[in-house]
Amino acid sequence: MHDPDGPVDSPVQLPISHRWRSPNFTERRGTDRPDMVVLHYTAMESCEAAAERLCDPQFEVSAHYLIAENGDIHQLVDEMARAWHAGRGSWGNVTDVNSHSIGIELANTGFHPFPEPQMAALETLLADILRRHDIAPERVIGHSDMAPGRKSDPGSRFDWKRLAHKHLSVWPTDAPTNTPLSSFPNLATCFGYPNDAAQDDILNAFRLRFRPNASGPLAKQDVAILASLVARYPIDPPAGDA
Ligand SMILES: [Zn+2]
Repeated sequence: MHDPDGPVDSPVQLPISHRWRSPNFTERRGTDRPDMVVLHYTAMESCEAAAERLCDPQFEVSAHYLIAENGDIHQLVDEMARAWHAGRGSWGNVTDVNSHSIGIELANTGFHPFPEPQMAALETLLADILRRHDIAPERVIGHSDMAPGRKSDPGSRFDWKRLAHKHLSVWPTDAPTNTPLSSFPNLATCFGYPNDAAQDDILNAFRLRFRPNASGPLAKQDVAILASLVARYPIDPPAGDA
């Protein structure tokens, strides 16, 4: 494991470009370290266009990292600072997601697959971030997870299962399908989804990530998968019996 007294501010093992630096950040509030990671896509035509926007003070947006389609990793904001990528939303009891997270933007129009070099770079960067900040895989989420109905990135083409296979996110196991449909809202809250979001918006966010080919009304399979996730990764684990 990493040396707790060693540098945590920036990755030292990875080729990181500092070609673009963003002025759009403040200090973290209520915490001095990131304890979650939020993944995004840029929804812009090119990495360069996204970088310019993320570094332009007039747009008041940023992210800690921007990964190009070719796998180049650009660091725009230091990890210990509060970048402006998450906006309104929540995950579990975290309502100021920017203060608690590291934001990673993937250059992507929103309509294209994520190229292999970009995914490989993301995996390398994520593994490094999770190790250095001791962040659990279940705390790597999509922008759509914390802002259902408002955001849909990184979208249905993003390969969450691949990340989970490398312990960089989570994926459900086979689950019994006898969980009642009525338990969906409670399970969604127990996994981390905002408890003030509309159920349809949560269902859409959930399917974007875990059932990208599903459509139609809430189904037994949705509830079964969510129950499987909650059983292994509850957002607020109950205190164990001593
Ligand atoms: Zn986003």
